[in-house]
Amino acid sequence: MGNDYDCDVAIIGAGCAGLTAGLYTARAMLKTIILEKLQPGGQLATTHEVENYPGFPEVATGPEIMEAFTKQAKRFGCEFRTGSVGAIDASDPVARVVGTDGGEVRCKAVIVASGADPRTLGVPGEDRLRGRGVSYCATCDAPFFRDKDVAVVGGGNTAVDEGLYLTKFARRVTIIHRRDELRAEKIYQDRAFKNEKIDVCWDSVCVECVGGEMLQRIVIKNVKTDERSDMEVGGCFILIGTKPNTEFLQGLCELDDTGFVKVNERKETSVPGIFAAGDCEDGLFRQAITAAGFGCSAALTAKHYIDSLA
Ligand code: NAP
Repeated sequence: MGNDYDCDVAIIGAGCAGLTAGLYTARAMLKTIILEKLQPGGQLATTHEVENYPGFPEVATGPEIMEAFTKQAKRFGCEFRTGSVGAIDASDPVARVVGTDGGEVRCKAVIVASGADPRTLGVPGEDRLRGRGVSYCATCDAPFFRDKDVAVVGGGNTAVDEGLYLTKFARRVTIIHRRDELRAEKIYQDRAFKNEKIDVCWDSVCVECVGGEMLQRIVIKNVKTDERSDMEVGGCFILIGTKPNTEFLQGLCELDDTGFVKVNERKETSVPGIFAAGDCEDGLFRQAITAAGFGCSAALTAKHYIDSLA
């Protein structure tokens, strides 16, 4: 590696995709820097129980699995840096420059594994009461809601799984879903329907979060009748899916209409030397195991690309 480069590969994001990519590039003797906004782990680090990650036959927590990922990436020499990525400069034909709030990283290849963040409802009161009763992560915040009544908005795996977790703390958990059928897998549905602390408010949406210092109630609208009603809750968990973290790629790589990075099966983006893997490019599977697999694909392609520069 010439002195011009800080590393061979810069990886943006330390979730399942980024850490797997790092394991592969570092093990292939490529100097690898993994950039992460806060701390390694990605979305799985805020997931309480994981039953479907192969190799963990007993229920493991998300943080336990991500600690194992991080340890393995470090074992092969990945360097971790904290920094929020502002932009990537791809004007130099052989070097990519990743600009972060902590300085620049000059590298031969970039793997974008920046994941996705929770989607918001965009209703009045939601933003103001965030952290004051409105939450996007039951795993992180559930203990604050001991013996309280809480609402969960959403009908997917996350909403139902996190709703089940909330029953360990809350008095009552009401899942508010905009249709009359949950999207969550049957195994989660069965557990929820059997749980005496959970009920489901069908065909309904949350249209407002109301409170002073803390959330006091939410306003529910029945989408079939348009009827509005108040629901007194201490907590409202909004778990309606995710949006990809790709703002910093706008104007550089091709993105689809919903912001996912467009990649081919080799995980190449529209810009040579920039690859993408995981929830920032995959709107279809969005599993920890697929993100890890895509991270591996991106790393192998990046290695091939770097070899071709020599
Ligand atoms: P998701 O599958 O996209 O589900 C989002 C849910 O929120 C849907 O029920 C959707 O309703 C609802 N929704 C979306 N926008 C809404 C809005 N504006 N107002 C009200 N409701 C809204 O997202 P997810 O549950 O976060 O799951 C994401 C991925 O992670 C999935 O692939 C999932 O399988 C995976 N995951 C897996 C596990 C596991 O296997 N252990 C656990 C958690 C998550 P509709 O149903 O009407 O569209």
